[in-house]
Amino acid sequence: MKAILDHIGIAVADVNAALAFYRDALGLEIEAPEDVVSQRVRAHMIRAGESALELLEATAPDSPIARYLEKRGPGLHHITLRVDDIRAAIAHLRARGVRLIDEQPRPGAESALVAFIHPSAAHGVLVELKQAAPRPTSLAANRVAFGDIALVSLYDGLFRLDGGAMFGVVPRTLWAHPSPPDDRNRIQLAMRPLLVEAEWGRMLIDCGIGDKMDAKQRDIYAVERERALDDAFASVGLTGNDIELVLATHLHFDHFGGATVRRDRRIEPRFGRARYIIRAGEWQDATHPHERNRASYIADDFVPLEAAGVVDFFDDDRMIRPGVRVVQTGGHCPQHQIVFVESGGKTAVFTADLIPTTAHIRDAWIMGYDLFPMETLAFKKQFIREAIDREYLIFFEHDPLVAAGYIREKDGKRYVDQVL
Ligand SMILES: [Zn+2]
Ligand SMILES: [Zn+2]
Repeated sequence: MKAILDHIGIAVADVNAALAFYRDALGLEIEAPEDVVSQRVRAHMIRAGESALELLEATAPDSPIARYLEKRGPGLHHITLRVDDIRAAIAHLRARGVRLIDEQPRPGAESALVAFIHPSAAHGVLVELKQAAPRPTSLAANRVAFGDIALVSLYDGLFRLDGGAMFGVVPRTLWAHPSPPDDRNRIQLAMRPLLVEAEWGRMLIDCGIGDKMDAKQRDIYAVERERALDDAFASVGLTGNDIELVLATHLHFDHFGGATVRRDRRIEPRFGRARYIIRAGEWQDATHPHERNRASYIADDFVPLEAAGVVDFFDDDRMIRPGVRVVQTGGHCPQHQIVFVESGGKTAVFTADLIPTTAHIRDAWIMGYDLFPMETLAFKKQFIREAIDREYLIFFEHDPLVAAGYIREKDGKRYVDQVL
């Protein structure tokens, strides 16, 4: 079992006095505190090289930290060892008769999974095991079978958007941890179109940013497409010509830029054999932009499709093909829709810009880009409840690390159980 010292937890009775010592006297840098609601504790992380110190402050009189302080006074509370696979580590220790407090991992701070070893087994020290989450996945095409439908998470490279705009009213001190900004305040995002393979054919849901942007636009959005959609297709033995249907969640350039391609100074449909399925209302909005949404729509991404006669419009929520259903969410833009894939008694949902990254599973973490954020909030609250209760497999179109996973809740704290 390989373990690395992650941090040392210190119970403090007077957090201001402790900060005066660790921050001011020692000159260490303290991160924004994080509340672990289920434990009624506030954690102040202090980076110290590869490891860290964690000052633990009780937020309620019945908090385990408050009880610890009462019994033993301030001081060393626990040490945390980081492991690659916490379930394997627990099994390894259990097989050796080590007494554990947690037989199953549970969610801890910073979206990690944690489990405690009993102090009696560790010579008087409380030891916490931690698996840092999420487990990073590089851009890769990954397939999951779902009844008689297969879903393949593809990619069209990476880009960056302003971190503040990605999180709306959430302050930078909170989002900068899950999504560290660069020197231009932009955070890393991915584009992950989804391929649906069924006996009726192959459907692509969204198609990435494409390659029509000029150098200036690519610089503004830090577009990296060294490995892009064609590579993703090739890695699963396909080309764009194998796509029969392209379904748009909405027509923003980071979702539908890949629908067309420039060939000999003309712009043509990128998928030569495909019909493109687009909500009529979204077409109307995209072709009549206003000052607030103009930057999101690029006419060359969609107008040439209509000229080529390859678009099928529809109006209301419906089954697009057996097992594939669209539901309008509004919020992000009035016609924004998410896609339910249902087969073999299971449900997967491609949530597009409703839950663009795993950080957005918190109800109030809503993009500043959204035209109607209260609509997003209402839809999202109800949807995430349902996704947790019914175990929907959620595809996160923009998450740089996690392509898909289940949203779970433990002790009132949400986390993503990564699948891809
Ligand atoms: Zn969008
Ligand atoms: Zn987007």
